[in-house]
Amino acid sequence: MIPNFYLHPETTDYSFGPRHPLKPERLHRTMALLHRLAEVDVLVPAPATPAEVALVHSPAYVEAIAEVEELLKTGARHERLGELSAEFGLYGDNPPFPAIYRSSLAYVGATLRAAEAVRDGARRAFGIGGGLHHAMRARASGFCIFNDPALGVAVLRQRFASVAYIDIDVHHGDGVQQLWLNDPAVLTASIHEDPRTLWPGTGYVRETGTAFTSVNVPIPANATGDAWRLGFSAILSALEKFQPEAIVLQLGTDAHYLDPLAHLRADARDWLWAVEKIHELGLPTVAVGGGGYNLTTVPRMWTAAILTLSGLPVPEQVPEDLRERLQVAWITDQDRPEEPSSGYDQVAATVKVLERDLLPFIPGPA
Ligand SMILES: [Zn+2]
Repeated sequence: MIPNFYLHPETTDYSFGPRHPLKPERLHRTMALLHRLAEVDVLVPAPATPAEVALVHSPAYVEAIAEVEELLKTGARHERLGELSAEFGLYGDNPPFPAIYRSSLAYVGATLRAAEAVRDGARRAFGIGGGLHHAMRARASGFCIFNDPALGVAVLRQRFASVAYIDIDVHHGDGVQQLWLNDPAVLTASIHEDPRTLWPGTGYVRETGTAFTSVNVPIPANATGDAWRLGFSAILSALEKFQPEAIVLQLGTDAHYLDPLAHLRADARDWLWAVEKIHELGLPTVAVGGGGYNLTTVPRMWTAAILTLSGLPVPEQVPEDLRERLQVAWITDQDRPEEPSSGYDQVAATVKVLERDLLPFIPGPA
């Protein structure tokens, strides 16, 4: 039985529209596979309250998102909607949508209740509908309205003296970094594609924060899994130095070679290896979802991660009866042909810089 698994049904109303890459179907398929492979007690969390969201966001921004939902409901005052959208980043990749407020409170609620479970003694808890790591204090960004991983950190800090945020999404975890920058009790660590070739264009090694608690491992475009694993080893070294008491793990799956939005060539085995390394630390951990835009990869990778973090075996193959729905037969890419290594030397050079300019300065346990 997998305990402490929080998913609010309204999370799947979080949708910027049928042509947007962030599709609710990611969650439907994940739950289909997970239920088939394990017993999961899915808990419906209390949605986040505005006061809880305001632990990391400005109250004006929280109120604005609520007002946008009201305006869309009544269809009145389009001018006001335009003003709010312009001021708070609700355009481009993050347009206003009908359930923008209540579905955001739903996924944030899952992450908050998962973090509370870990704060109160659980070893593991899941909020797979969250992981929206780009949202800023007063602005939507990168498909993210509210920053639930940053809020998860806030809840863990109520009990634990030090917390690490680990982000394996292919995009830089810029929102979480920004919201916790310079706090010596919170280490944020992100491995992502090089900011010169991928949005949001941040996540350079030199972004350490004044407390040296911001770890960034950029990986060159086209890098293969061996290079990605080498980069992740720098995050493990940082954790060894920092010795966190608890972890928030963001499980973006878009470093996968089939992902349409990025350019790395890791596969599910590489990615799952990193999840195993975090599992082996044995620390109280809140696992949240994140990016990932290929519907054949996200469900199996999230399921594999949830099983791994629960100490359960990951089967090699998708059960026969689900292959048509999931459009894939293997869970961790055993069928993938070997390919020549790419990017390893560049990542080795990056790791050297981190070892010289950051690791020695990361604070240890108090
Ligand atoms: Zn991403």
